[in-house]
Amino acid sequence: MTTSIDYTDAANWLAYDVDHIWHPYTNVCKPSPVFPVVAAEGVMIELADGRRLVDGMASWWAAIHGYNQPVLNQAIETQLKSMSHIMFGGLTHEPAVRLAETLINITADSLQHVFLADSGSVSVEVAMKMALQYQLARGNKNKTRLLSFRNAYHGDTFGAMSVCDPVNGMHSLFQGVLAQHYFADAPICNEQGQADNFEDFENLIRRQHNEIAAVILEPMVQGAGGMRMYCADYLHKVRALCDELNVLLILDEIATGFGRTGKLFAYEHAGIRPDILCLGKALTGGYMTLAATLTSRHIAETIGGGEPGNLMHGPTFMANPLACSVASASINLLLASPWQARIDRIEKQMRAELQRCQELSAVKNVRVMGAIGVVELQCEIDMHWIQPRFVELGVWLRPFNNLIYIMPPYIIETEQLSKITSAIFTVVTELSVSK
Ligand code: PMP
Repeated sequence: MTTSIDYTDAANWLAYDVDHIWHPYTNVCKPSPVFPVVAAEGVMIELADGRRLVDGMASWWAAIHGYNQPVLNQAIETQLKSMSHIMFGGLTHEPAVRLAETLINITADSLQHVFLADSGSVSVEVAMKMALQYQLARGNKNKTRLLSFRNAYHGDTFGAMSVCDPVNGMHSLFQGVLAQHYFADAPICNEQGQADNFEDFENLIRRQHNEIAAVILEPMVQGAGGMRMYCADYLHKVRALCDELNVLLILDEIATGFGRTGKLFAYEHAGIRPDILCLGKALTGGYMTLAATLTSRHIAETIGGGEPGNLMHGPTFMANPLACSVASASINLLLASPWQARIDRIEKQMRAELQRCQELSAVKNVRVMGAIGVVELQCEIDMHWIQPRFVELGVWLRPFNNLIYIMPPYIIETEQLSKITSAIFTVVTELSVSK
């Protein structure tokens, strides 16, 4: 007997959860409420008490095809029968090669080498190592810093955290442990789609480029650091300065990749190419944890020609065959679907239906790009109130700070999306009245 809880009643295991398990960014002394889920199908999440919620989160950008997707299920089942995992040191397998080939074919032509990591944060660590090892191999011993942006988010491991926004990323808490990098002001663009505050970045990179190995940024949308959207013009200008000053450009498309902003990859809005690209989240259609870091032949071979030559990373579950199989299936499913039309429809609908929130006093700003809709409030949101309220209204949304945002599975139907936008309007109206 390894368990003693009566699992037939969700209340029992829920109580155990509250007592023993950390959820993302939570305090065990003041646990936030969690809702027990028993199933998810298409765009619907089913709770233990039978309530069904329309999913507006795609499990944090990942479940682009919805849940319990037959083609993705099949890919895993087929792979499971031959091997669920095998070490990648000294061995290889078809699922890894197929995925690498697919990724190389669908990303910028210059990206020719792939590292299959086990989570988004790890792919950022690998990208940083690539940039540092590249500069070392070129004899640029002083290029040991990264240039990131305020409001950036790149993950929760120490290397990734060191390039997250210094305030949101709690740099003060880990002072002395986190590496020191440079931060430019978060990109701002004007109504005409032109960079409005590029001087801050430009001054910084011109002053410090001898120390900077790479710039790292989330193209077009800064995600977890504030859901801030900006323009292609800014990216263009960053690319040009990186080229001029011998600084690599790492694009973190862990959130924006695979169609979310309306292009397959957000860098396509600007017609630029990254030197190093991080992918994750929707890579497996939200089925399993897997990420990838891609780079050019020139960078890979420069690293290889340096000392020690080996790229210094090799996780246990690197290129997990189940994850690789479902990733290939997810990408094929996406590319065979009318994804652009779907995202276009979601974008238009969110623009039309979220607009009325703009009139409410609790609202600061409403913004939409591709399948991302954001209602920014004037004040921080009380999660203990808003989360159960959304559940009552039949939708799953997970606001943070002062942001309510939607990033639904691409298969969401018009009425389902309307249910979400109406729930947001209702909640924000209640907040506006109570102010
Ligand atoms: N980069 C970005 C842009 C992200 O949004 C995230 C996840 N929210 C990460 C990196 C980290 O990915 P993971 O949570 O898989 O480690």
